[in-house]
Amino acid sequence: MADRIESDSRKLLGRLRDALAEDSAGQARLNRIVGLIADSMQTEVCSIYLFRDTETLELCATEGLQAEAVHQTRMRLGEGLVGRVARAKTVTNTADAPGEKGFRYMPETGEERYSSFCGVPIQRLGDVLGVLVVQSKAARLFSADEVYALEVVAMVLAEMTELGAFVGEGAALSARHKRPVMFRGTIGQEGAVEGRVYLHEPRVTVTNPISDDPEAEVARLRAAVDTLRVSVDQMLSDAHEGGADQVQVLEAYRMFANSRSWIRRMEEDIASGLSAEAAVEKEQSLARTRMGQSEDAYLRDRLHDLDDLSNRLLRILTGQGADTGAAMPENPVLIARNIGPGELLEYGKTLKGIVLEEGSVGSHAAIVARAWAIPLVINAKGILTEALNGDPILVDGEQGIVHLRPDDNVASAFRDKIAMLAKAQERYASVRDLPAEARCGTTISLHMNAGLMADLPSLKGSGAEGVGLFRTELQFLIRNQMPRRSELSALYARVMNAADGKRVAFRTLDIGSDKVLPYMKPNDEPNPAMGWRAIRVGLDKPGVLRMQLQALLRAAAGRPLAVMFPFIAQLDEFRAARAEMDKALEREEILGHPLPEKLEVGAMLETPGMAFAPDAFFEETDFVSIGGNDLKQFFFAADRENERVRRRYDTLNVSFLAFIEQIVARCAAMGTPLSFCGEDAGRPVEAVTLAAIGLRSLSMRPASVGPVKSLIRRVDITEAKAVIDAARDRGEQSVRGAMMDYLSRLG
Ligand code: PEP
Ligand code: MG
Repeated sequence: MADRIESDSRKLLGRLRDALAEDSAGQARLNRIVGLIADSMQTEVCSIYLFRDTETLELCATEGLQAEAVHQTRMRLGEGLVGRVARAKTVTNTADAPGEKGFRYMPETGEERYSSFCGVPIQRLGDVLGVLVVQSKAARLFSADEVYALEVVAMVLAEMTELGAFVGEGAALSARHKRPVMFRGTIGQEGAVEGRVYLHEPRVTVTNPISDDPEAEVARLRAAVDTLRVSVDQMLSDAHEGGADQVQVLEAYRMFANSRSWIRRMEEDIASGLSAEAAVEKEQSLARTRMGQSEDAYLRDRLHDLDDLSNRLLRILTGQGADTGAAMPENPVLIARNIGPGELLEYGKTLKGIVLEEGSVGSHAAIVARAWAIPLVINAKGILTEALNGDPILVDGEQGIVHLRPDDNVASAFRDKIAMLAKAQERYASVRDLPAEARCGTTISLHMNAGLMADLPSLKGSGAEGVGLFRTELQFLIRNQMPRRSELSALYARVMNAADGKRVAFRTLDIGSDKVLPYMKPNDEPNPAMGWRAIRVGLDKPGVLRMQLQALLRAAAGRPLAVMFPFIAQLDEFRAARAEMDKALEREEILGHPLPEKLEVGAMLETPGMAFAPDAFFEETDFVSIGGNDLKQFFFAADRENERVRRRYDTLNVSFLAFIEQIVARCAAMGTPLSFCGEDAGRPVEAVTLAAIGLRSLSMRPASVGPVKSLIRRVDITEAKAVIDAARDRGEQSVRGAMMDYLSRLG
């Protein structure tokens, strides 16, 4: 019986291939295909619905429903049974469609006569392109074999849609990857850029989804799986040898690569008429759909592993390699689902912009984009399905909008915008060498955040007084092995040389959370942001911290040095870290190396508890720097990387401001120098507010120094404070409205 179904399905695919080979246009092809599916499946109705835009499905071809309904009947995603199949990305199979929850009656189609309904998503790698439906009068459930055959057909339809086999008149049949598309995402980093798409993970194209020689295809699949196994084993043995810690992930890869059920499913797909590539993609699509639906982080990770492994297998089969040969275009705009800071740093500063389908504003990848001052848009849903290497793209980081393959009008308006932004930059340049002195005479000292050698040239151009935060971990993230002390000390010396006497506050390693070193054991922690990270790692495993402190002392070679420890959560942690510094000093002295002429040892205040630390904390620290990114996430209990909750809470919320004021007061009472180095310091309205509540030193990404300085020079800090107090007296939750009114009154 199963053999018969397989051969039926193979026959159907064979007919499908013949139909596709005919020299007919998109609409005629679709009509022919629905006819032959209905005939092969012996159903009265077969219809194909395709998306005309991201939200609307359109009936594009039918056998059995009223012909007039074609291109007229539309439904929104989630609407009716067809919309439900598209949204849930799963099959709906029912003997009583009208009785089904969500059924929507479309009178123009005449479908009320049909009782049975089976709808299958036409999907490619987890992206739904449309829905394939069969219906019949007799009330019956379609068998598992029939549903499977439909899924196989839908898979082929998806590949053919991707390849442009059904291009015709009207929006629903327009060519994929050709039309202009706009994506509305979230602002990650301001700025505007015109460039060309460069895909982080190149798209593998499958041009031959159907095969009539299952034996040959199974042999190809098996050979490819063997190659895959060998390469995974090789990676695994390299990883073991290097003591690297991706071992766990690779073990999972090996498990999948040897999984009998994975291979069996693909062989079944081949037996039903698919090519080896299409079989891999079919299973990969299913895994992606499950990945999107699973709540279980562990399962999602494993499905992610399987996805990656499927990509490798596809590359072996298609011979397209990890590098598909796509050269990096001029003005490359990187498109990725998500990217870690290490991977991003590997691209270097060649990128002109970044667009992520997921991502988050608080992530360290976003911080890297900000350090590079290149526009970043995150949450651009659907861009990976649409974008092809080399496509023209406009990234509007000011509004979080991306135009892919823009038409001429959009592109020329966009160029005007770029010119306008350049003018604004010129204006900022004119205040570059002036102090950030408010009208009332208060001066705020502005510093920049850095972490890479490439950031240092900005020190001169930005108008910053020094580096208020040097994130040393970025240097560790760009390597694939732990740097040696001599390398580190040479690097820090270069940083100090480039700073040319300006102060650089080096922050010791903040590893953990989203900053994962490829050569350190990943910790499977349920909540890494609150886990074993930063100084906690530094104190528990002090080897690296010691090496870093020594490297810093050697680099200073007698010059002044400022070092701060990240994520201090209690007095003792600061004391223990400081003791490490004292030991390092002692050792250097014994070795006869020069000690810094002035040494400042500070702490980052990133955990709310430290605002209530004993006085000794503020006495013993030479300076304190508020890490606003972490402090805010813990203050509001809102993950900085979770877009859903991150934006609920305003930095200008009165509770948060009162809290910062308290830290300002404690530092003032003890005479401890205080600065603020989270991302908020670089936002002009936030910066003015922080100045108004008493901060006198702010550290931000280099590109923000100009805009912040311009605004500070136009305000009166005493007036701004009065505006804040009045808003608080009125019982407002956030002082943003009042500040915006005040600033707009200033013009
Ligand atoms: C912060 O938390 O505000 C900070 C500056 O440190 P990071 O963003 O590197 O965690
Ligand atoms: Mg932090």
